[in-house]
Amino acid sequence: MRVGVPKEIKNHEYRVGLTPPSVSELVAAGHDVVVETGAGAGIDFSDQDYRDAGAAILPDAPAVFAGADMIVKVKEPQASEIALLEPRHLLFTYLHLAADKPQAEGLMKSGATCIAYETVTQATGGLPLLKPMSEVAGRMSVQVGAHYLEKEQGGRGILLGGVPGVAPAKVAILGGGVSGINAAQMAVGMRADVTVYDLNMSRLAELDMFFSSQIKTAYASRAAIASAVKNAHLVIGAVLVPGAAAPKLVTRDMLKTMKRGSVMVDIAIDQGGCFETSHATTHEDPVFEVDGVIHYCVANMPGAVARTSTFALNNATLPFALKLANMGAEAAMKADPHLANGLNVYGGKITFKAVADDLGLEY
Ligand code: NAD
Repeated sequence: MRVGVPKEIKNHEYRVGLTPPSVSELVAAGHDVVVETGAGAGIDFSDQDYRDAGAAILPDAPAVFAGADMIVKVKEPQASEIALLEPRHLLFTYLHLAADKPQAEGLMKSGATCIAYETVTQATGGLPLLKPMSEVAGRMSVQVGAHYLEKEQGGRGILLGGVPGVAPAKVAILGGGVSGINAAQMAVGMRADVTVYDLNMSRLAELDMFFSSQIKTAYASRAAIASAVKNAHLVIGAVLVPGAAAPKLVTRDMLKTMKRGSVMVDIAIDQGGCFETSHATTHEDPVFEVDGVIHYCVANMPGAVARTSTFALNNATLPFALKLANMGAEAAMKADPHLANGLNVYGGKITFKAVADDLGLEY
């Protein structure tokens, strides 16, 4: 198959659909890969790196779309990219269509086959192509939390791990799923005093076994969260109720009890946030303060570490990209129902029921 990788054009998006090593794998499997010039420049993959991997470099997006049957991207296609899609194209990328009717309608009109990373499933449960980004966000949350606890950043002037003779900071992680466990790993590594709160008792049992005495776990009752928020120096919001807005676990009243200069990182902001006082921020202006508490609520945290995120995403997407290229979309989806769950648009129609319902479109 002819596989195309355009340069991402969304504002401040430096990730790229395929790394040079992924291109090598596709080329080794007998496929032709075309890459737009500069596609990986933001994260130091040069055109020569792609050439060395076996790709041909093309001058612009129209050339890439014209020269490829499968387009591999990171972010949802922008209007100028949708205009380049034809019925013969297979688009493999994040789409997040449920809240984006113009994009959904554009993709329907294009007639292309569109497989969304975020709805591909796996036999063991969970969403394998979303997981790497939750891992990145979870690990980053502790890094940014530690940064904003510094006095110069407006924080309380606390070192997460303390030093001999001075107690470490208290870190409360709300939600012990993919991002929560990754946050806990980083916080433990920095020697903070870590407690993870969740409603899922089996998950708490797993965390208890995994971390042994390195963390505490607690059932996420209202009272437990109120007490956690009052005592913590860093609160990380990492909850998810699939398909729903994040529950507001930390209320405005609870916030008033927090120590001045403490930090809250709301990873769940992409689902509306799990603190009542959260609103989405950007990497250009990531924090704001309410009642003396610093809020970090960036909705695309992995974008800040675009190189790591690109490799992490490729590790998860490459096996599916290979399957699609080797077998063709229809046969690959027939053979793998989990990949088929990624199909969102086909033959001019929305093929994912929740998306169609949310947008009021025909399914
Ligand atoms: P996950 O499903 O792996 O884990 C969520 C956990 O929250 C589960 O263990 C669940 O039991 C727990 N939970 C649900 N309701 C709860 C409640 N009321 N109290 C306590 N715990 C509760 O989810 P994840 O992959 O870790 O993702 C978490 C959130 O982070 C999602 O909204 C995801 O979209 C978001 N995310 C954001 C970014 C970003 O850049 N901001 C990046 C990646 C993921």
